[in-house]
Amino acid sequence: MPELPEVETIVRDLNRKAVGLKITDAWTDWPRTIKTHTLDKFKREVKGRKILRAHRRAKYIMMDLSGDKTLIIHQKISGHLLYGKWKVSGKKVEPAMEGPIKSDPYNRFIRFILYLSNGYMLGLSDVRRFGKVFLGDTDKIENINEIGKLGPEPLDPKFMLAKFKELMCRKRGVIKKVLMDPFVIVGIGNIYSDEILWYSGVHPLRRVEKLTDKELALIYKNIKFVLKKAIGAKGDSQQDYRTLEGKFGTYQNMQKAYQLTGEKCQKHDGGIIKRIVINARSAHFCSVHQR
Ligand SMILES: [Zn+2]
Repeated sequence: MPELPEVETIVRDLNRKAVGLKITDAWTDWPRTIKTHTLDKFKREVKGRKILRAHRRAKYIMMDLSGDKTLIIHQKISGHLLYGKWKVSGKKVEPAMEGPIKSDPYNRFIRFILYLSNGYMLGLSDVRRFGKVFLGDTDKIENINEIGKLGPEPLDPKFMLAKFKELMCRKRGVIKKVLMDPFVIVGIGNIYSDEILWYSGVHPLRRVEKLTDKELALIYKNIKFVLKKAIGAKGDSQQDYRTLEGKFGTYQNMQKAYQLTGEKCQKHDGGIIKRIVINARSAHFCSVHQR
């Protein structure tokens, strides 16, 4: 599932590619993707509106449109937004350009398209069809879905160590699960919680109420470090995620713990990466330095 670095990468590319263009039409073969409108009503609402800016809240992609509307896309489990050209006939979508949009099978599950005024399109490739689209008034975004109830943004400069400690003090339970709770802190999922805990030397099953001040400070520092490093790598493409142009991110080549079961720890401490299951989600950690 795309996490903060993957969504942030898409948003930065949207600002480069799509801002300033008008939406000329919309299409979907899966109308329930659009949560706030029927397809016909949605088309009428978005046609002719200009994309003013793209931004992100948690894992929601937000595009402010002219006329004080905001279009929101949540890619959910397997979705990723692409910028390209497709030929649509009825429910059939074929790539109309060469390159990864056509050649990478993960980019071939287009369920939703926004047509742009320069002839390009934004297409949501989503094999499992859980991706969602919302359209609402810009000043009422907080009312859409769960957005108003989400926790703070970890990369916000105002998100200080004191705030992180305060949030952790209010919680009980295993640290891996707490880090992945979007109502505590947003944007951290299975990949980056494993990575943050590896860098911090903290075992994923440790209880948050038993962590020392020093450990909390390390986790706080590594949240920012790992997420920034992953944004620099344009995200992790081990699974479905691709960039807006359909290319691979590169964080999968930098992983320290996630999905490395059985491999030697990169700290050369004699440890082996082990996998355990916590609430049906896997956790990967070094058997030696994560305590
Ligand atoms: Zn180790």
